[in-house]
Amino acid sequence: MIEALQKDDALLADIHSTAADDPRLHLWWLGQSGFLCQQGGARLLLDPYLSDSLTEKYAATDKPHVRMTERCLAPEQLPSVRLVTASHLHTDHLDAATLVPLARAQGGITLVLPHPILEEARARLGDAPIELVGLGAGESCELQGWRLTGVPAMHDDLKTDEQGRHHYLGFLIQRAGFCFYHSGDTRWYPDLANWLLDPACDVMLLPINGHKPERRVAGNMDGTEAAVLARSCHARLVVPCHYDMFTFNTESPDEFITACGHLAQPHRILRGGEKLSLERHSTAVSV
Ligand SMILES: [Zn+2]
Repeated sequence: MIEALQKDDALLADIHSTAADDPRLHLWWLGQSGFLCQQGGARLLLDPYLSDSLTEKYAATDKPHVRMTERCLAPEQLPSVRLVTASHLHTDHLDAATLVPLARAQGGITLVLPHPILEEARARLGDAPIELVGLGAGESCELQGWRLTGVPAMHDDLKTDEQGRHHYLGFLIQRAGFCFYHSGDTRWYPDLANWLLDPACDVMLLPINGHKPERRVAGNMDGTEAAVLARSCHARLVVPCHYDMFTFNTESPDEFITACGHLAQPHRILRGGEKLSLERHSTAVSV
């Protein structure tokens, strides 16, 4: 089992040590595509998977989900956070065993998710105090000081419902002059960069586990594609995710690191529970 860099009390102490008037954007990687975001005292939680529900569900099958990195926090332990996203229905992104205890501990949360999955999410989450807010591609909502805009995600396909609404989304997130992109699960597709050029992202959080049919799961970008996307969108920084969670569906970040090096794309590799802090960049334009 890979050790988290920070977990439990140490991670909580780190989260609580950031002052409410700190103007920086802080992101903690919680494993897979899960990130806790904090800026100016406000928090947002992205795609948290903080249980062993998939390991238990697939234990006696031919597709065991063996956890690789230790969990860094139990959902009940999270500090005050009332706004959460789920990029799509897959359990490593919308996990009842994470969201239900989280919502109960918080006294209620708001969960932003793609329109077409609202009904199934409601059934999965039961009567937990969770307000569901549907979002579509190109639609924005402003909640608790965070502005979220839906970006289509191609988790093998750009699946839509009969009204043309996307089942898989990424989120472009803006607050206090920061802009960052949490892609959810997506492969690269030709139009993706056009969603992400203006404003340029301070950081992109991208999967790198690739698309290998033998895994029998929907695919994602590989490390090279993630690096190229970040470079083509002039991202200030790119952080890989969606690896080191399950042995059957992981990838070394080496290819991503090499590609970023060839492209001179700034990047950062995080370990479980590790914090990334970003200063607000200067908006001055040099001529
Ligand atoms: Zn996933």
